[in-house]
Amino acid sequence: MNVSYIMVCDEDRTFTSLNRFDRRANTFEGEYSLLHNTYSHDEYFLSRFLLAHVGHALQVVSSDEERYTRVWNDYRRFQEQDIPRYVEDKVLKMRDAEHALQARESVGQIQLLIAKQLIKREWESVQHESAQSDRDTFVLLGKEWAFQWSLRTIEGLGDMG
Ligand SMILES: [Zn+2]
Repeated sequence: MNVSYIMVCDEDRTFTSLNRFDRRANTFEGEYSLLHNTYSHDEYFLSRFLLAHVGHALQVVSSDEERYTRVWNDYRRFQEQDIPRYVEDKVLKMRDAEHALQARESVGQIQLLIAKQLIKREWESVQHESAQSDRDTFVLLGKEWAFQWSLRTIEGLGDMG
């Protein structure tokens, strides 16, 4: 996992950094922004690189090879000026998605709380009903069980979140 990779076009003396390969996700980390200290985590720059060098002989070089450092020093890094902005966009999008998820979760928690209050109130009103017959007792026990079950289920859902 510590080996990094670059893809090189000797014809144009340029390269794109794939960085390390994540064997679990089966993807490269992608281009790296020093400014944001993070990777693109997608194939954006690799895809653009492939498209820009159709018909050229491309080579993947690993950081184990001597050539790796030479290419970094001597060749141009593909779309270098676009990397910080692209990574920043990506980070912002991921943050937005996270916020949206958190907002949805808190709305869900509030809905569960309201449902719980409604059930409790209904349950209390049933507890004040008195049974006039065996049949009434049976019905009340059934309601009692249903309320208990509903509350337990809602509490279980709350724990999951
Ligand atoms: Zn090329």
